[in-house]
Amino acid sequence: MKKRSVLSWVAEFAGRRKGYYGGSITLAIAGVTASFIPYLLIADIVANLINGNSDPQYYIRQMILIAVAWVVRILMHNLSTTLSHIATFNVLGSIREDLCAKLSKIPLGSVLDDNSGSYKNIIVERVDSMETTLAHIIPEFTANLLLPVVMFIYIMTLDWRVGLANFISVIVGVICASVMLVKSQGEFGYTVKKTKYLNDTAVEYINGIEVIKAFGKTGSSYEKFVNAAREGADCFIRWMRKCIWWQSGTMCFTPATFLGVLPVGLLLVKNGSLPADEFITCIILSAGLITPLITAFSYSDDISKMKTIFGEVTEILERKEMIRPSEVTEEPVGSDIVLKDVHFTYKDKEILHGINMEIKQGEVTAMVGPSGTGKSTVARLIDSLWDVDSGTITYGGVDITKLPLDYYMGKIAYVAQDNYLFDMTVKENIRLGKPGATDEEVVGAAMATGCHEFILGLENGYDTEVGGAGGHLSGGERQRICIARAMLKDAPVVIMDEATAYTDPENEALVQESVAKLVQGRTLIVIAHRLSTIKDADKIFVINDGNVEAEGTHDELLSNCELYKKMWEAHSIVKDEAEDKTNDASGKETVYA
Ligand code: ADP
Repeated sequence: MKKRSVLSWVAEFAGRRKGYYGGSITLAIAGVTASFIPYLLIADIVANLINGNSDPQYYIRQMILIAVAWVVRILMHNLSTTLSHIATFNVLGSIREDLCAKLSKIPLGSVLDDNSGSYKNIIVERVDSMETTLAHIIPEFTANLLLPVVMFIYIMTLDWRVGLANFISVIVGVICASVMLVKSQGEFGYTVKKTKYLNDTAVEYINGIEVIKAFGKTGSSYEKFVNAAREGADCFIRWMRKCIWWQSGTMCFTPATFLGVLPVGLLLVKNGSLPADEFITCIILSAGLITPLITAFSYSDDISKMKTIFGEVTEILERKEMIRPSEVTEEPVGSDIVLKDVHFTYKDKEILHGINMEIKQGEVTAMVGPSGTGKSTVARLIDSLWDVDSGTITYGGVDITKLPLDYYMGKIAYVAQDNYLFDMTVKENIRLGKPGATDEEVVGAAMATGCHEFILGLENGYDTEVGGAGGHLSGGERQRICIARAMLKDAPVVIMDEATAYTDPENEALVQESVAKLVQGRTLIVIAHRLSTIKDADKIFVINDGNVEAEGTHDELLSNCELYKKMWEAHSIVKDEAEDKTNDASGKETVYA
């Protein structure tokens, strides 16, 4: 897909409130015109003074006109910026809505891959930083460049030589500004990168403070944060060092039009080719070139940053979406899941090299294999977190890419070790399994998974706030609420990432009871780490190095798959040792069958 230019994005965003921006630019131009008038009036007053006009009426009238023009200028300017700000805050709101909507359309897996702090950064801070461009540059930059153009044309009609003399200092200023822009381009991108890194490190440091303290990593983690802060400050200083002289040159020379106008004008007056009153008008108008040019130049910095400022936001908006229909056109028959020659690549590395699997409705299907061989990836592809690169996955005989995402999501419940709880009540967290479910249904799901008792024992029962990411609950409690949520979802297929041992030993048996209740009568796909839990499974797939190495029942695999046999032996030894050590009833396992 061809990348869109920044300007086309600016045009699209501004186009969302083009009436307001159009009005804002029109008012800004009216303001500029009003600010041009006093210069002409002052020039006229000076000419009249030189010519000996002593009529007080004339001077009073001119003063009143100057005051009116000035008030009109301020009024127009304020109205213009009010309009552009109203438009901009509306546009920024809609950009944020677009970003959030986009996140739900791009592969969820790639969203989960990124640091959540960086999304917060882009959606909040980066979008905020677009405000200057949209609210100020569009109306004010346009208007402030127009005023000098109008003045310059007027000076040229008086005397073209004095007109051109204005350029002497402007040319020097523009050269300085160009050098400054070139130098700041790379530097700005770098400082943004470093500031973003600092932000991410700070978020990581704060989020992980518990783990950092528990593992005595306070020193090294704090050092990482301090280094990030130092690098962040250093790159700003380096950037400023590179630019400061050129920036000063720009600020000094650009407005100093007198540097050219005074000597050239004096020479012309002296040799009689320019009348003195016209020379004075030229001087006054030249002075009027200063203010708007300075304002316009003050935006040059933002213009050079535009690509970086818009870059991260538009990069998300340009990401490839998962293409899914909005309605079911072909109804799946049953809930068999079939993977045919599935290939999948993370970034540049192919992880799955042609997976074929048949997962039958109502059966227990297990995936086993060494760590890092692609089991979770297969599960995530079945859960539609990513699209396959080639091959197909069908559900009830229909390619899952031909099913609406929310329809298909309703068919699969994914229970992982780290399922997320939102910072709201237990009840609302369970209800997420089926938005709109009644309180009775929520309680029913909790009862069915054996969670009801423990929830009633919490401070406020079902109305207990669980804290950010479920921080007020123990690991086992969080896990059980997630299982109740999956139960409420009532999906025909459950994917269980059994992961390693549960984090919470005293809750382990309870968690497993809930799991056993959840998976009853459903199609279960389990990524098993403890082989004894799946030895009665209907089918076991041995995944190795992104391929299905073997498939069959436990007994079949023991006799025909060397890898499975080795894993079983290793597991049996570890299990026996663990049982000898604990001899504890909570060590019992759920056997999926
Ligand atoms: P398993 O579940 O068998 O342990 P995974 O499916 O999690 O294996 O991972 C298979 C391979 O893909 C590993 O090499 C892992 O490093 C890589 N991988 C997993 N997730 C990602 C990701 N989000 N981005 C890049 N590589 C990944």
